[in-house]
Amino acid sequence: AAKEAGRSQNMAFEPVMLYARQLRRDTATELRQGIGRNELFLAFQPVVELATGRMTGVEALIRWRHPQRGLIMPDEFISIAEETGIILDVGRWVLRAALEQVARWEAQLSLEPDFKLRVNLSAKELQRLDLVDHVRRALSETGIAPGRLVIEITESAFVSGGDVEMYSLRSLNALGVGIEIDDFGTGYSSISYLRRLPVQTVKVDRSLIREISADPGQLQFVDAVHGLIQAAGMEAVFEGIETLDQAADLLVLGCRSGQGYYFSKPLEAEQVAAILESGTTLPLVQASAAASTA
Ligand code: C2E
Ligand code: MG
Ligand code: MG
Ligand code: MG
Repeated sequence: AAKEAGRSQNMAFEPVMLYARQLRRDTATELRQGIGRNELFLAFQPVVELATGRMTGVEALIRWRHPQRGLIMPDEFISIAEETGIILDVGRWVLRAALEQVARWEAQLSLEPDFKLRVNLSAKELQRLDLVDHVRRALSETGIAPGRLVIEITESAFVSGGDVEMYSLRSLNALGVGIEIDDFGTGYSSISYLRRLPVQTVKVDRSLIREISADPGQLQFVDAVHGLIQAAGMEAVFEGIETLDQAADLLVLGCRSGQGYYFSKPLEAEQVAAILESGTTLPLVQASAAASTA
């Protein structure tokens, strides 16, 4: 009976697995085509100075407008792109498109000298010896100063990082490009090597700050994590700030920089330009509430 149950379970499970595998294969093929067909685009989420709400930069986040399936978010296709190697083409497209957008903002408006563009890179891209050359070329062809660019890499990429990855990071640093650890606190980070990495900023994962306003112990813990990052000589950015309470609590801890739905969701390039042009501080809801009572 146990055998039978096992078999019937398999029979129910197999088509699902086959379907999932087929979907991944289709997604990979269609993604490769989609790059050439202009189906990819970028959203830009503001990074904010917590004390003032001033936008000090943006993170470029990829989206895919699929002709049949509609809008597809990165969590649905980045891992497939990594498994199939398509991430190299995707990554090149992202870097170029993001830098071109910053060049357009620079031409239209005057960007503050400290305005930064953050671009996510997958570990696979760091393993390419030609990455640094590509970044250098993209910067010089778009006329963007290397100091405006920050590369975000998840913690896990550092953990498995070998010589080539370290070479890439050091060479990017040497170019003047900043390096940031993304999703800090979710992987298995070794604190001892935090100090030795060619990294300037650490983006603390949203799972760490989710409960800070409800749980004093968690607030204390985040305070300690912040202290650790500072002791390593790095600056912290807090992601996933969804409420005023969280923003206020982080500010009391002396945290300077953050990002999250409370301030702004990822925006279209034109919306970013409008904020830059008007010098509006975030969150926008406060500005519009003020406008409606005026
Ligand atoms: P990430 O780099 O950690 O980006 C932050 C994600 O959290 C984004 O999701 C953003 O929209 C979302 N987010 C921002 N604020 C909040 C908030 O307050 N609450 C909540 N719940 N979420 C918030 P998105 O755009 O779906 O991207 C997911 C992940 O996909 C990114 O995580 C990044 O790892 C990856 N990704 C996105 N764009 C690229 C890219 O161009 N290249 C690569 N290699 N990966 C990318
Ligand atoms: Mg990121
Ligand atoms: Mg993150
Ligand atoms: Mg993430």
